Amino acid sequence: MTPPTTSDLVVTGGTVVSHDGRRRQDIAIRDGRIVAVGDDLAAAGVPTVDATGLLVLPGLVDMHVHLREPGMTEKEDFASGTSAAAAGGVTTVVDMPNTKPPVATAERFRQKLDLVKNKAYVDFGLYGMLDHDNDHEIAAMAELGAMGFKLFMGQTTGDNRCPNDAAIFRGLEAAAAAGLVVGVHAENDHLLRMFGDRLQACGRRDPRAHLDGRPDFVEVEAVTRIITMATEAKTELHIHHLSSAAGLQRVMDLRARGHRVTVEALVSHLFLDEDAYDTYGNLIKLNPPIRPAADVEALWAGIGRGDVDIIATDHAPHTADEQKEDDVWKAYGGFIGVETMLPLLLTAAAQGKLTVEDIVRLCSYTPAQRWSMSTKGQISAGFDADFVLVDPTAEFVLDQTSLHSKHNVTPYNEWPLTGAVVATYLRGNLIFEKGEVIGAPAGRQVIPARTPLATH
Ligand SMILES: [Zn+2]
Repeated sequence: MTPPTTSDLVVTGGTVVSHDGRRRQDIAIRDGRIVAVGDDLAAAGVPTVDATGLLVLPGLVDMHVHLREPGMTEKEDFASGTSAAAAGGVTTVVDMPNTKPPVATAERFRQKLDLVKNKAYVDFGLYGMLDHDNDHEIAAMAELGAMGFKLFMGQTTGDNRCPNDAAIFRGLEAAAAAGLVVGVHAENDHLLRMFGDRLQACGRRDPRAHLDGRPDFVEVEAVTRIITMATEAKTELHIHHLSSAAGLQRVMDLRARGHRVTVEALVSHLFLDEDAYDTYGNLIKLNPPIRPAADVEALWAGIGRGDVDIIATDHAPHTADEQKEDDVWKAYGGFIGVETMLPLLLTAAAQGKLTVEDIVRLCSYTPAQRWSMSTKGQISAGFDADFVLVDPTAEFVLDQTSLHSKHNVTPYNEWPLTGAVVATYLRGNLIFEKGEVIGAPAGRQVIPARTPLATH
């Protein structure tokens, strides 16, 4: 019988960074799984990857991407979006359900899975939607491997209708019974519409009107309401793209009273503030909006204290033409980001704003733990051999034409960055190196190892 440490690939000479430290170690891999991490694992006849001088990070897990399939493939699709992920060191993406049609029934979930399953260059999870009347579909979507359920309390791209509070509560109960996380876009839809109408009536058309129409209390109100309901329904709750100092303070206050919730910050909310409206216009229209510098600083402080659990991208592509729209009310929300997350965060690490260990914790370890991805997020024996080789000292100027999405318009174009993705491996296979995505799409669906919370 083959001894358990026999390997078919060994990564040598690199510094392995985990969520809680770093060590110069080799990694032995067999059949796409890590079988050992330790000293001097190279063996005669076994191929090696020389990672000398490089950092080896667990592949990033981006909990928040919109790959636009089905229905909006003029913006992005699973092949292009997951190519961008591979190039960005992201080996697992979780795709959002606000497609055309929305993924709000088991039938549509199955259709989406069939549509995308052979197109992905990285592993992927799929969110179902929690809509205005689909609590009876939640259990069946869970059976098909839904990673969790997205609840849009505020309007966004796609055909989704925001559920009222009764529908939200029924959905929260159904998700709790299925043992899955509900991820929420927490903004009060009625208030957003009212403020938007007022600004339009005043004749505002400029990019900054988007910020003025989404004051932070709109987020505070929605955060308070959804945490209150999720606690009552015993639902595992995650707040996507929390954007304001006041919103984060409210989460901290509610946690101090015993409410349990995880919080995500977006890369865009960490690297852009309201001055960016002057430079980039409607390209940086995002829901929730890019906010004043004080909010950005509050999110960074929350990362420093551990109050922000996860960083994600909200990779939300639109066509290059759509992103030229001058009228803020017609402009689309969101822009690409899955390929630029790691270089931006490495640049922040080079500047001392966080550590590479923090990046691993926020972008890999914690998302994998939170969504019960039992083989993701760590470089340890038994885990999938998903890893990224990083040169933390490489300095370069970002050129958006080198990116891998269908439309590569990004506010970070021409930004000087420090820290580059050298190569990305998915289950032991090289999928990206030297600017090129390599091989055929081999990504698989990731299914959460869920534990039903209720017994009825
Ligand atoms: Zn989103």
